[in-house]
Amino acid sequence: MQNPYESALQQLESIIPLLENEYKDKKLFYKMIDHLKTPQNFIKREISITKENGQKESFHVFRSQHNDARGPFKGGIRFHPGVTEDEVKALSIWMTWKTAVADVPFGGGKGGIIVDPKTLSEVELEALSKAYSEVLFDYIGPWKDIPAPDMNTNEQIMAWMLEAYEQKVGHHAPATFTGKPIVLGGSLGRTEATGQGGLYILDAYIQTLGKQPKDITIALQGFGNVGYWFAYLAQKAGYVIKAVSDSSGALLIKDNYAMQQLMQRKEEYGSFKDVASKENMELITNDQLLALDVSVFVPAALENAITIDNVESVDAKAILELANGPVTSEADEVLVKKGIEVLPDILCNAGGVTVSYFEWVQNLYGYQWEKEEVNTKMKEKLVPAFESIHTIVKERKLSYRQAAYVIAVKKVVDAMILRGRV
Ligand code: NAD
Repeated sequence: MQNPYESALQQLESIIPLLENEYKDKKLFYKMIDHLKTPQNFIKREISITKENGQKESFHVFRSQHNDARGPFKGGIRFHPGVTEDEVKALSIWMTWKTAVADVPFGGGKGGIIVDPKTLSEVELEALSKAYSEVLFDYIGPWKDIPAPDMNTNEQIMAWMLEAYEQKVGHHAPATFTGKPIVLGGSLGRTEATGQGGLYILDAYIQTLGKQPKDITIALQGFGNVGYWFAYLAQKAGYVIKAVSDSSGALLIKDNYAMQQLMQRKEEYGSFKDVASKENMELITNDQLLALDVSVFVPAALENAITIDNVESVDAKAILELANGPVTSEADEVLVKKGIEVLPDILCNAGGVTVSYFEWVQNLYGYQWEKEEVNTKMKEKLVPAFESIHTIVKERKLSYRQAAYVIAVKKVVDAMILRGRV
């Protein structure tokens, strides 16, 4: 498997020839690119908690603060046994590009703990979350670095971390974390924001093709937070969902079977495999899902879903990346050759960080917006982001991913030069 940090560096390198001519002082430009290859700060600690059985257990914890030229570092915290320093660094680099594409005034950061949270009790999870926040308290804050949930972390964990941080600094500071429970200053609309944002991008994309939602068939991989909300909202908007998968397999969807009802069945029976046998629906494999002849394939589960090993079977006309890094760089080249357009993750799943930005703004104001206002404001950010990328795609004959990177890297490099970060 490709090392994610190496992938992130390769992506950055590949943008140099597309951007260097925009800078008179090329040496300065190359210097900025060099700076962007390493996080500004990488915090690495070992923390320990006392478990309920009285024994102490230690954990390796990380926070990568990649770049803050455009604003405070921003990015989630992941609890997973497979967390590595390189993964955290790569994810923080991608956050720098995502916040630039979405045009929110943040930089990029990411955190992680090497832990399988399923092995901890609720009390132990609270102790670990609070210990992480305490060890980082000097590095985070509304104007420094604003963490959020990521894989295996949620609003409860943000609540614990916020409490530990505020106890340490001695005053309220809700804008230090986003993805909080509503009662502690979370934003309305955050739960569905990533799926909703992906749909705004798809709407804008099909308009450029002169198509309507009813003309578009969709195969979706993953039916978690992002996948479910995307499927539910897309179906409501008139798109035709042909198949959806979870880790047990993919269900073929007939007669517009309602996504809400499908989620109820999944919760009732456990997995799509069980739903298929109980509800007499057709189950196919995740490989067969990838090979369906549909307008759009939507990966919304894991990294590396489309690799050099399965890319040849992709039969969709376009890919909307809702997961982070679902297409490897090798597979991406094949897709370009096959003429399959890939709408990149740093644009398609930016709805989450955009609403996180709105949460931060609301916290700084001490105010709460209605959900409709949040969605309108998100659309006002994401549609122009798509349009400026689309313009570059057409004018310079680049892929959507290249165009998104050209915009993002340029914004960050310009901010660094303006600050005189030499
Ligand atoms: P989640 O844990 O809620 O859901 C993941 C889903 O993927 C589950 O339905 C699971 O069954 C399915 N899955 C796992 N392995 C699979 C496989 N091999 N084949 C098919 N399905 C499989 O996670 P989520 O929050 O929905 O995140 C999904 C992706 O979106 C991740 O890459 C995440 O980094 C990215 N993302 C999430 C957000 C957010 O706001 N939640 C924001 C930006 C990016």
